[in-house]
Amino acid sequence: MALKGADIMKKLPKTNCKECGCATCFAFAMKLATGGAKLDDCPYLDPEVRTELESAMAPPVKLVTVGTGEEALVIGEEEVMFRHEKTFFHEPGLAVLVSDREGEPEVEEIIARIHELRFERIGHTLRVNLLALSNESGDRDTFVARVGKASKATDLPLILISGDTDTLFSAAALCADRRPLVYPITAENVSAAIPKIKELGVPAGVKGESLDEVISVTSQLKDAGIEQCVIDPGSKDLLEGIRDQTLIRRAALKKGFRPLGYPTMAFPCFMYQDKFEEALAAAALMIRYTGIVVTSLTEKDLVFPLLVHRFNIYSDPRRPMTVEEKVYEISHPDENSPVLISTNYALDFFIVSGAIEEANIPAFLCIKDTGGIGVLAAWTSGKFTGEAIADFLAKFEVESRVKHRKLIIPGVAKKLKEELEEELPSWEIILGPSEASDIPKFLSEKWKA
Ligand code: SF4
Repeated sequence: MALKGADIMKKLPKTNCKECGCATCFAFAMKLATGGAKLDDCPYLDPEVRTELESAMAPPVKLVTVGTGEEALVIGEEEVMFRHEKTFFHEPGLAVLVSDREGEPEVEEIIARIHELRFERIGHTLRVNLLALSNESGDRDTFVARVGKASKATDLPLILISGDTDTLFSAAALCADRRPLVYPITAENVSAAIPKIKELGVPAGVKGESLDEVISVTSQLKDAGIEQCVIDPGSKDLLEGIRDQTLIRRAALKKGFRPLGYPTMAFPCFMYQDKFEEALAAAALMIRYTGIVVTSLTEKDLVFPLLVHRFNIYSDPRRPMTVEEKVYEISHPDENSPVLISTNYALDFFIVSGAIEEANIPAFLCIKDTGGIGVLAAWTSGKFTGEAIADFLAKFEVESRVKHRKLIIPGVAKKLKEELEEELPSWEIILGPSEASDIPKFLSEKWKA
């Protein structure tokens, strides 16, 4: 539960000395409550009050990092139950489960397949985030060997899964510098695991057969100074998963219940045999707060929709999705290629650029920054007018890129044509189709002709 400015104010010295850079203690309290100031900014806080405020202001869901470097997965620190209340901040990691029953070449082949599951979408790379290695063989040497091989074959963060604590930590010791998530830490092995987790400095995947068990384990870990935890409430199917994930999120956010204030994990790979059911469960668990979703999926046609789904949920609903303002060169255009213009509303860009690619005619696609709003709304708000487009063409020196002077504008912007004819008298302004799906036909027939 976020602390309110008025609550913080009660704890401040109330001298209005201004040393924090605020005119009054009240102003400082307000800034602190909204994240605009730090406790350190006030040098006169009573140490006890400081500790109290620090604890009360800590994020309700701990921020946890698995892995290192550019590929590290950072999850947690979520603040809302529903995306429309604000936004979700750290998208869940998608993990692929690999058994140590697979031979070394097979593990390498699966890793290569996972590496291929990377897709570009409006300037973002959508990808699988983790490799989960499971000690299904029950053999310590086999598991350690597979972990050693896998940690060399990929930079992806690892989840190490073994029911045998010695095996688990022998494998973890091999790649501790990569911060693997060690799983499962349970009521049975937590005492033995605590010194190993502290020694290796790795995050702990806590597993309980019930929430009470999870609470008991996270409390023991916290008492030992271990708070880099991801919790698995042991859900056996989607219904249980939704129930458990919702309870955990509500307890952390609405009740400020610290023992459940950690990101979570779930295993659709163990819930369903059928791949489609598994993918659907993974999608539902991503919506319902799960921090790491472990699947067995490496099929492009199942993984890609999952990644797009995750991307959509974890985009900020307060900001329209945009692409960069610039001239995009599609399929290596030359001086005779058509020039089209549209807004930087991401969906417009996607559809129009996809349609141009489909037409198989190289083209320049001019994308004007309209703050992420579409053609008509941008025109009525003065962001996609004849003057604004003329300025864009000059700024990006479009005239120097082509021999012709023909500009294709979106078919829905009929009034814009007149404005542009006034602003750009040396250009022929061509009204394109109203529907982007008609662009391939339009370019094939009109441009080629
Ligand atoms: S430094 Fe502390 S005491 Fe001084 S105005 Fe700021 S909050 Fe108040």
